[in-house]
Amino acid sequence: MSDAVALPGQPRGFVASGPATARAVNVLAPNPSAMTLDGTNTWLLSEPGSDLAVVIDPGPLDEAHLRAVVATAEQAGKRVALTLLTHGHPDHAAGAGRFAELTGTKVRALDPALRLGDEGLAAGDVIRTGGLELRVVPTPGHTSDSLCFHLPADRAVLTGDTILGRGTTVVAHPDGRLGDYLDSLRRLRSLTVDDGVHTVLPGHGPVLEDAQGAVEYYLAHRAHRLAQVETAVENGFTTPEAVVAQVYADVDRSLWPAAQWSVRAQLEYLQDHGLIPGRPE
Ligand SMILES: [Zn+2]
Repeated sequence: MSDAVALPGQPRGFVASGPATARAVNVLAPNPSAMTLDGTNTWLLSEPGSDLAVVIDPGPLDEAHLRAVVATAEQAGKRVALTLLTHGHPDHAAGAGRFAELTGTKVRALDPALRLGDEGLAAGDVIRTGGLELRVVPTPGHTSDSLCFHLPADRAVLTGDTILGRGTTVVAHPDGRLGDYLDSLRRLRSLTVDDGVHTVLPGHGPVLEDAQGAVEYYLAHRAHRLAQVETAVENGFTTPEAVVAQVYADVDRSLWPAAQWSVRAQLEYLQDHGLIPGRPE
């Protein structure tokens, strides 16, 4: 889900199905919208030479798309062995149950309600499938159940909706919290600085080749928006609706309902930090 405003990082061309790194292939879902950009990126990951693959975010419940993911694996001589979810929003997860049927795989997610099978996902988990290694990075904020997956062999991170390939994301208040989101962005920044991650494989939009630049942009954008919200409140615009009309005047109105979630998250954050009076509604 996008709060599309500007271009972070260095997008690598357009969004299209196909290989993005040595181990990651995108199968773009046919669900484009203002919120989902070009559609959901369903990621098919596999170690070169292995016949096993891992799928991250099967996407919406769209039979043709789910079958295309299976076919992409089969055409590469691979079998899907595991399904993972970055979070529970339907544009990422609604197809997971049907995809699990098609592939006979288990579904692992942070939220127990999204799992199929007895295994979840938790901070620090390392997933190894056919020689592929993925490390689970907890990144709450967009939603409370948001995860990223670090793919060290490709110096890449799969970010779901925590970082998008275009624009910025929504903090889906009240489930998503701004303080958590800022902590998650700092966690991702340390992946880029300390662990050499340079490629972002997002849940929507193009691949980004400057992961650190993208994270820095997101942090700067959040600080800028927060200052704008604080100023709007100081100028007497105190309801979320009024703040959105002030601060998101440059954003397409179809995104204002989503912007209102982010504004509620920002008002809560400012109140929690004593920067504006009162409590969120
Ligand atoms: Zn989402």
